[in-house]
Amino acid sequence: MINVILFGPPGSGKGTQADFIVKRNHLTHISTGDIFRKNISQKTNLGQLANEYMKKGQLVPDQLTIDLLENELDSFSDTNGFIFDGFPRTIPQADAFSTLLKTKNMFVSFIISLEVSENELVRRLLRRGLESGREDDQNEEIVRNRIQVYEKQTSVLKAYYLNHLPNIVFSIDGERTIEQISNDISNILSTKQG
Ligand code: AMP
Repeated sequence: MINVILFGPPGSGKGTQADFIVKRNHLTHISTGDIFRKNISQKTNLGQLANEYMKKGQLVPDQLTIDLLENELDSFSDTNGFIFDGFPRTIPQADAFSTLLKTKNMFVSFIISLEVSENELVRRLLRRGLESGREDDQNEEIVRNRIQVYEKQTSVLKAYYLNHLPNIVFSIDGERTIEQISNDISNILSTKQG
């Protein structure tokens, strides 16, 4: 089993790269943002609650997100492994995640950190907002808030993982072509066969 955490700010290309990895390595893609958006479009209680935070560019509370992740993991019993996109995003989520994985006898195999400058992130997110209609990508203030939230609450996870799992953290320059980046990731993942 290969379990990959794709780590990086909003707009760094996590979703795009996750799609490539899923195809090449036959992993199961878990994006907490996608699951929240699905719940919003299906008008579930969880969706309504999550939307209150998402539309402002804030993080959904940890416990809600952790419970959601746990349910999602339980729903896939037969897989080569998982690619986690947008989770964990806070230290409490990372701690809860590590406890959860232990109980399932699972391990994180790779943490891929996509590095992109703030100006480029804003440019990409606003463009995505125009193309996809995603609400939280359309307003520059909300986009900048999401990047601030990332800096304050999520970016510390890189040091956290460098401290806990130094041998499996890989930083990648995310301001190159999609293909160059996916080739780099593929080379990293090929160093371990499931
Ligand atoms: P994403 O699609 O990953 O950019 O996530 C979109 C939004 O969903 C974020 O701005 C948060 O409001 C919420 N979200 C997604 N994943 C998480 C998470 N792990 N923890 C808290 N909120 C999250």
